[in-house]
Amino acid sequence: MTERLYYQDSYLTAFEATALNAGDRVYLDRTALYPTSGGQPYDLGTLNGVPILEVVDEEDRVAHLLAEPIASGPVTGSVDWARRFDHMQQHTGQHLLSAVLAERFGLATVSFHLGAESCTIDLATPSISADLLEQVEQRANAEIVANRPVLVTYEDAATAQGLRKASERSGILRIVEIAGLDRSACGGTHVRRTGEIGMLLLGATEKVRQTTRLSFVCGQRALTWTRNWRRDLASAEGRAATLTASLKKMSAENATLSGVRLYHETAPSPDGLRRHLRRGIDENTRAEAVAFAGGPRSLYLAISADSLVLAVSPDAGVDAAAAIKPLVTRGGGGRTLAQGSVADPEQAATMLLRLPEAG
Ligand SMILES: [Zn+2]
Repeated sequence: MTERLYYQDSYLTAFEATALNAGDRVYLDRTALYPTSGGQPYDLGTLNGVPILEVVDEEDRVAHLLAEPIASGPVTGSVDWARRFDHMQQHTGQHLLSAVLAERFGLATVSFHLGAESCTIDLATPSISADLLEQVEQRANAEIVANRPVLVTYEDAATAQGLRKASERSGILRIVEIAGLDRSACGGTHVRRTGEIGMLLLGATEKVRQTTRLSFVCGQRALTWTRNWRRDLASAEGRAATLTASLKKMSAENATLSGVRLYHETAPSPDGLRRHLRRGIDENTRAEAVAFAGGPRSLYLAISADSLVLAVSPDAGVDAAAAIKPLVTRGGGGRTLAQGSVADPEQAATMLLRLPEAG
């Protein structure tokens, strides 16, 4: 029977004990090292300076798997505090989250998993709305800020009252209580007050059979998640800007190709000029106009509700800027390309498509 020192003090990081056997799978009379159980992973640390690889719960005993063998007799043990405290934050956060989900929102927690990067709980519901999740997250963080004490008591299973989830065990139960919020039978390690959880951040949900798996993180993990999201967002914004720029370039190139294609598809009028009228002007119209008028003997006109673009080939016998000048309220350009605002685009089109005037 191994005495579990973490039951009394989850903040104990150094302890003296006796190794009951020699080897690399060692049993102690007492240990502060937590073995995998109840959804919480094992601790790391050392025994007589030898690194611990895993700690296994064998019901009555706790087995310490070591990187190399040690002798039986007195040992000094240490607990990897960063890892343990992270587990305490996640685990206490889970009690708090499950309590909030049960009390305020009527959702029961079916199971809990504390992973290397995130934690999950399975909830007895086929779905859960994003709006509800925000309320849950808000409530959970308010309970963290309330800094409620987390207490451990020992009570008889037959008479223990007010447990969030009925225990299957009989005899004496170890009850972990978040004062005024939750009472659960649990053998895990927890922080002393909810404030030490730091922050609780909800992640994605996933439907697993008839339950919904909800991921969450607490403490430093919440900061790491947020930081990663910020980095991902910045890199996504960068990619979006690059894509937007290349899309713009492609659509200008496409407009140029379209201008060339239009030129070849347009039959010359009896005077030998190829004329094209486009209704509607957008950011690519100029590129299409210039490409069309890149062909010999051509005139390209685009009109919108209040403006026009005129492009002509140098051999068209038309000066674009001079041609639009009497028609536009404001605008200008050069001999082969001009644009401006116009009061009556249809009338302007009728006149411009007649160019060059005979004589
Ligand atoms: Zn617990």
